[in-house]
Formats: sequence, structure tokens, C-alpha cells
Amino acid sequence: MTHPLPIITASGPSGAPAPAPGLGPAPPPPPAPSHSRRDANLHDSHGRIIRDLRLSITDRCNYRCIYCMDPDFRYMPKRELLDLDEYLALARVCLGLGIEKVRITGGEPTMYPQLNELIDALGAIGVPDLAITTNGALLERFPLRRWREAGLHRITMSLDSLRPDTVRSITRSKTGPETVVHAIDMARAAGFDPIKINAVVMRGINDSELADFADFAREHDIDMRLIEFMPLDSSHAWDRGKVVGADEMIEAISARHGLSPLGDEDPHSTSMNFTFADGGPGRIGIIAPVTRPFCGACSRLRITADGKVRPCLFSHVEWDIRPVLRNGGTDEDLRDFIRDSMWTKQAGHGIGQAGFHQPPRTMSAIGG
Ligand code: SAM
Ligand code: SF4
Repeated sequence: MTHPLPIITASGPSGAPAPAPGLGPAPPPPPAPSHSRRDANLHDSHGRIIRDLRLSITDRCNYRCIYCMDPDFRYMPKRELLDLDEYLALARVCLGLGIEKVRITGGEPTMYPQLNELIDALGAIGVPDLAITTNGALLERFPLRRWREAGLHRITMSLDSLRPDTVRSITRSKTGPETVVHAIDMARAAGFDPIKINAVVMRGINDSELADFADFAREHDIDMRLIEFMPLDSSHAWDRGKVVGADEMIEAISARHGLSPLGDEDPHSTSMNFTFADGGPGRIGIIAPVTRPFCGACSRLRITADGKVRPCLFSHVEWDIRPVLRNGGTDEDLRDFIRDSMWTKQAGHGIGQAGFHQPPRTMSAIGG
């Protein structure tokens, strides 16, 4: 089945997609075939089952990471963003479609004023696997034990360097690595385990620290996840030469610490996971969407803070569910809209292939 051309993704003031002037509201997705609408699971036209929702709750952030947001990046107007009840309604409907994991993300989710209430409410509707990704800078202000008791299962934080100057220059903030070290201790004291730390590895910026990240994983007994730089930065400065590939990462770490691949990987996992060959604490995860794409096993659905259903991180197609939410749509209407949207999920991201275009939204406006 062919689909009409996607909704317009001309870049709006925030760098986020906006309908082209004069074209009116974005059209809904074309109906998926009726057999797909009857299926208990959410799936796409390539036979992939969708189990994992990335729910972005804000496009705001206290950092301006060089691989994500420019210093003068402009946010979406507040009125465009969904409210707590709308995020909850979408999460609830997604659970009814077989979604098992919900990751709260952003922007920086700790900038969302009702984060505690949202976690309580998502816990109360029984999300089987509820997680959050945060840069960790503001975690001190939050009741982590209450989050855990409310039903948050996992916390992932970001730390792109162990050197104070490099952290400051990557995040364009005054925060140093000790903030995340403190946040790791707080999260562990609140009962979170394992704790994952993400680092985006960029050539000439932090690639000399690969083995140090392994030391850090061992010292703090955490899962250190090293991510290939993806073309989702607002300055569109990505190029293949800035990507440090998985093989190079593994080689650099192995020169200091032997790595043993973990055999128990979830087939939908985005990361290749390793323990240390000497049995030391901590783990390494390598996330290699550029050099080893995992699109064939992708089980993800993304909903942005302004209510766009994005079938793929690299979608140029996104579907606006906000009118359905705001015009009295029933749960069934929301379910059908999500089913139809996900039917349009592209087979792969196409990075490195002729015709690849970076999507207008940055990672911060999509939800990583
Ligand atoms: N603000 C939170 C944080 O940074 O952890 C959550 C949102 S952030 C968009 C989610 C994840 O996306 C972070 O781990 C970040 O490092 C990653 N990310 C952002 N831009 C990226 C890029 N261009 N390539 C690879 N990962 C990126
Ligand atoms: Fe903010 Fe996270 Fe983007 Fe960094 S990666 S600018 S912390 S949203």
C-alpha cells in the first residue's frame, strides 16, 4: 500500500516541524489495513511489533549539548505542549495496545513542572517497565525514593566526559561530572539498580576517554552506554567523520580491559552489552545506530511533547494526535490513530544512504 505524502515538515521557529503556511491542519494518517486494526498488538507494515514508547514531556533543557541543541535554540510555545492528562491518556491507550515499556524523556524531563505527579500517575496505571532519561543535573531536587515506590523502575543519566572542562564545553553549562556522580549515589540509595549512564562519543571531543569510561563503570558499578553520534543536532554539523564507530570503541576499551559479550540480550535492545572479562563490576553497552543499524528489530514509538506521533527517530513523517485529544476523541479514536500512524513506520533510518536527509527536529524536540 502506498501512502500519501507525509505531513509538511518545514522547520518552525524552534527547529521543530510545523505545517507549511496556508495548508491548514495536518491530515491524519491513512487508515492501516483492517487486519492490523483488529490485532491486539501494535505493529507496522514491516512486521515489527511495537512495545516501547518514548514519551517526551518537554522540549526545554537546562543544557545546550553540542550534539543536540544550539545555544539560541528556540522552544515550542507552551500552548503547543500537551498537559499531564493528555500525556497520561496517551500512555494509557498505548498500554492497551501492548506497549510494555514507557521511557519518560525530553528535552530535560526534570524541567517539566509536574514530573512527580506524572510519575505517580504512570505508576498507578501499571506501566510494566517505567524509565526516565535525564541529564541528572537537577535530580537532587526530586524525591527519588518516592519515584521508585510510585513505580519508576529505571533511571538513565547522561555524562559525556569525566573531565570537568570537557563536560562544560559539551553541555555549555557550568555543571561538572561530580553532579552526575552525586546523582548516581542518590539513585542507588533510593534503590535504583542497575543505573545506566549515556555518553555520546564524538571524534576529537571525548573519544580519548573511552577506556576511562570503562574505569568509571567499574568504579561506580554502573552500565556505561557509549552512543554513536547521530545526525540529530540542531546545528546540522553532523558528518560521518565525527562518528566514532562501535568497533573503534570496543578496541579502545579492550586495550585496557578485556570485554565479554553478554549473551542474554533482548532482541529489541539497542545496545551490544559487555561485562568485564576479569569479573569486575559494571558493564559496557555500545549503541551503534550508524555503523550497526538495528532498525529491523526496532520496537519503538515516539510521541513528542507537542503530541506528534513519530514512527521513527529519523521520520520525516509525523502525525498530530493533539486534535484528537482536544476535540473529544475517544480511547478508540486514539488507538486507531496510533495504529494508523505506526503502520507508516519506515523500514530503516537510511543514514549514510543516498537521499538521506536529517529530520528537522533535533533529538531534544523528539525525545531520545
Ligand atoms: N536531557 C536528557 C538527557 O540528555 O539525558 C534526556 C533527553 S536526551 C535527548 C536523550 C539522549 O539522547 C541523551 O542520552 C543524549 O545524549 C542523546 N542524544 C542527544 N542528541 C544525540 C545525538 N545527536 N546523537 C546521539 N545521541 C544523542
Ligand atoms: Fe538537553 Fe539532553 Fe539535549 Fe543535552 S541531550 S541538550 S541534556 S535534551
